Parts: sequence; structure tokens; C-alpha cells
Amino acid sequence: MKERLRIAVQKSGRLYDGSMKLLKECGIEISNGNNHLRVTANNFPIEVFFLRDDDIPEYVQDSVADIGFVGENVVQEKNKEVDTIEKLGFGKCRLSIAVPKNGELRSIADLRDKKIATSYPLILTNYLKEKNISALIHEISGSVEIAPKIGLADAICDLVSSGSTLFTNELTEIETILNSEAVLISNKKLADEKKLILESLQFRLQSVKKAKNNKYVLLNAPNDKLDIICKLLPGMKSPTILPLAEKNWSSVHSVINESDFWNVIEQLKQNGAQGILVIPIEKMII
Ligand code: ATP
Ligand code: ZN
Repeated sequence: MKERLRIAVQKSGRLYDGSMKLLKECGIEISNGNNHLRVTANNFPIEVFFLRDDDIPEYVQDSVADIGFVGENVVQEKNKEVDTIEKLGFGKCRLSIAVPKNGELRSIADLRDKKIATSYPLILTNYLKEKNISALIHEISGSVEIAPKIGLADAICDLVSSGSTLFTNELTEIETILNSEAVLISNKKLADEKKLILESLQFRLQSVKKAKNNKYVLLNAPNDKLDIICKLLPGMKSPTILPLAEKNWSSVHSVINESDFWNVIEQLKQNGAQGILVIPIEKMII
């Protein structure tokens, strides 16, 4: 039988949708309609295992799965022997220390000898050690945010994204320990045939990621400004310039990085560009 790469993804929860969407954007068709534990893709040599996110690093380490999509927070906490090979751009959150609002604790220095509730004892222990603060770590597996209110702890160390859970529980963040997002992890000793499948998957993942970080730009420009406009929009190789029906005007097509976007658009306008269209890119292969 032909080799398949076994990928572990979260079976339900915050990473499920992002994981399935990313595989789909990579052109990989998977159906998980019947809540199966294991599903084979129709058009790519991959088999998807649906698991609890906490188990994914260990399963990848032990070759139950070859690769996995999982939060960096879980990878660091579980501390298994796996390689982290790619950030995936979804599941973004931060692991933060939070304390009761308007209480006497204001900074991490105030945490000395205090009790901190968390589901991330290893990351927190390492962090406190590095900062030379000795505190008591109370490990709990869920609903960490209610610990201060019920008198279980003085502070918490938990995942935050919008901050609404902290707000509802009258807590405020005083320190971010880790910025996290979903990552691709791999077993350290993949067979050569599996490595080739992984390379092909990584190529697709990178094309999707590059496309998301870039936009396609079309604009009209007076010909005497083309030099400066082309400098602002170097594109992948160089911009495409097509003459407009109107004399002395051209249409310029190029690609622009999301992070430069507003800055460059402003300068394009100042240099006479008109009718600027910005279009998302689906895949980008350089
Ligand atoms: P499982 O049943 O698989 O163990 P879980 O309850 O541990 O699920 P989720 O709450 O679904 O996990 O979170 C999975 C991952 O999503 C987290 O480990 C983290 O990487 C990411 N994440 C993104 N935003 C948040 C957030 N606001 N709170 C918690 N996790 C978040
Ligand atoms: Zn979990």
C-alpha cells in the first residue's frame, strides 16, 4: 500500500475549524461528517486523526501520528520530543498572568509567595524561575478564571484572546508569558517517503500563507508617474503595465505585502494613482 502521512488535529474545540479550513485551502478534501476518529483524504496521501489537543504532542512523539496541528502553548507545556516546523496563522492567543481588578497585586513582583492557579504549570514554573519569583503553583485543568473568586488562588495564568473572560470575572492582565498560535509539529524520525509528502504539504501551506499575507493591487496612473509608482510596488518580479484607452495613462498591476499596505496606498495616492483596487490572493507561488 502507498504510504500516507498521518496528521493529528483537534477533534473539536477552538482549533478544529481553523485546521480543517487550512487543509481545504491546501486543496485537501476531507469529510468528518460521521465524527470518525480517522479519515482518509480523497486527493492527497494523508490520513487525519481527530484527537484531544493535549494528546497531540505525545502521539506525534510516539509515532502514533506523523505530524500534528496544535497550539504552541500545548507544545511548550507538554515538552515532548517533536519538531515545530511551521506557524499556521490561526488559533492566536496569549498565555497571561491575571489578577483581581483593583486588588493589591499590580505586578509580577507582587506574586512572591502567592498562589497562582493554572493549567500550564511547566511554562509558569520556568517563567517564574527566570524572573526569580517563588510562588505557589496550583494546577487545575479547567475554569481557571474563577479560582480567585472562590478563594482557590490569588492570581491565575491562563490563555486569553479577546480578554472578555477576564473582564467577566473581574480580572486584569499584568503580564504576557507567551504569544501562541497553531503550529505544525512533526515526529523527529519520519521515513523518507513520509518526508516527501510532508514537503509537498509544507509547500502548499506556505503558498496559502504567503497569499494571505499579500494582496493583488490594480490602479490607474499617469505615465509620467510610472517610475515612482513602480518603485512603490515592486511586486514579485516587477509590476505589469498596460496602456489605458485614455492617452498618457496606464494600468499598473502588482502584489503588495499586507503589513506595508496602508503606508504604500497613501504614497500611491500622493503620486497620482487613481481607481485603486485591492484584491485577495488565493494561492501564491514564487
Ligand atoms: P480538548 O478537548 O481538545 O482538550 P481544550 O478545551 O483543551 O480542548 P480549546 O479551548 O478548544 O481546548 O483550545 C484549544 C487551543 O486553542 C488552545 O490550546 C490554544 O492554543 C487555542 N486558543 C486560541 N484562543 C484561545 C482562548 N481564548 N482560550 C483558550 N484557547 C485558545
Ligand atoms: Zn485540551
